[in-house]
Amino acid sequence: KTNERESMYVVSEFAQEYFQDNLKNSELGKAIGGSYFKERGFTEKTIETFKLGYSLDQWDAFTRAAMLKGYKLEFLEKTGLTIVKDEQSYDKKRMYDRFKGRVMFPIHSLSGRVLGFGGRILTSDKKAAKYLNSPESDIYHKSKVLYGIFQAKQSIAKEDNCYLVEGYTDVIQFHQNGVENVVSSSGTALTSEQIRLIRRLTKNITVLFDGDQAGIRASIRGIDLILEQGMNVKICTFPEGEDPDSFAKSHSEEELKQFLEENATDFIQFKASLLAKESQNDPIQKAETIRDIINSIFKIPDRIQQEVYIQECARIMDISEEVLYSTLAQMGRKEI
Ligand code: ATP
Ligand code: MN
Ligand code: MN
Ligand code: MN
Repeated sequence: KTNERESMYVVSEFAQEYFQDNLKNSELGKAIGGSYFKERGFTEKTIETFKLGYSLDQWDAFTRAAMLKGYKLEFLEKTGLTIVKDEQSYDKKRMYDRFKGRVMFPIHSLSGRVLGFGGRILTSDKKAAKYLNSPESDIYHKSKVLYGIFQAKQSIAKEDNCYLVEGYTDVIQFHQNGVENVVSSSGTALTSEQIRLIRRLTKNITVLFDGDQAGIRASIRGIDLILEQGMNVKICTFPEGEDPDSFAKSHSEEELKQFLEENATDFIQFKASLLAKESQNDPIQKAETIRDIINSIFKIPDRIQQEVYIQECARIMDISEEVLYSTLAQMGRKEI
């Protein structure tokens, strides 16, 4: 089993190099992948730092190149790089490249091993998924990885803070614009394992949301998981229609850093104000809101910190501390 995983790592490493080589040296790669990244504003240095690449728009260009080099189909299939379709008999198997025609974002472990890939489509074909990821495998567990952690780890420790963004390009554009302590859970809900990975480097996390309001209420639920692990959480939202990538692309390093500093709000305060606004004139909704916010405070392991938050929430939501304390005590009994 260890040997199998080792073979999967080796084949993934080859794939990374192959896709990089396409982007840098093939005519099609330079013309298509290269101009795409150029348009996004990525420099050559950035492309090298994140090992970005291009997968040719041909059925099996990668698979054939890999097999010619002696890599076994078994591991090409197990890593998901090659999709194998059985047709009647064994020698009529059809093989094709999962990521054909996409620009490639390798996903690295904390120590820099290639675990899997994200691939972005270049056309605006509405039927095809914009991003495609490697399937779960013995080396790629999407709930355990954070995109960018290898490139970010030193800066996270040095700055003693980690920015969490939604997508690949947000990580890359921030990094290029001088904010290197940034990772992404790549479109999925944050897991405890991912938080533990960050917690080894810092206890402070700042969650950055795209400026499309839809996701915020839903994402806020997941943040209790971060509090549970005793981390300090701040929230920062971007202007309507902007995400961290587009914002960083159109602002200078100084402007970006200033924006982050001015707009990062403590999570409990953010949630309390948001909920208070929503339930202003409705007593029933207000009661619900109080339970909701106390539920978050309940997750914080540190008692003193809990107390500070109770005082702040009482002020923000205009309610007595006693009520909040008794709600908190009730939760202790019911284990909500
Ligand atoms: P871009 O700027 O390249 O259009 P984005 O990162 O801004 O992409 P979002 O729509 O904000 O894209 O989505 C955030 C993240 O969610 C993406 O980076 C990707 O990891 C994931 N994602 C988005 N769309 C899909 C999809 N169709 N299938 C799988 N994952 C996706
Ligand atoms: Mn989004
Ligand atoms: Mn986005
Ligand atoms: Mn974007």
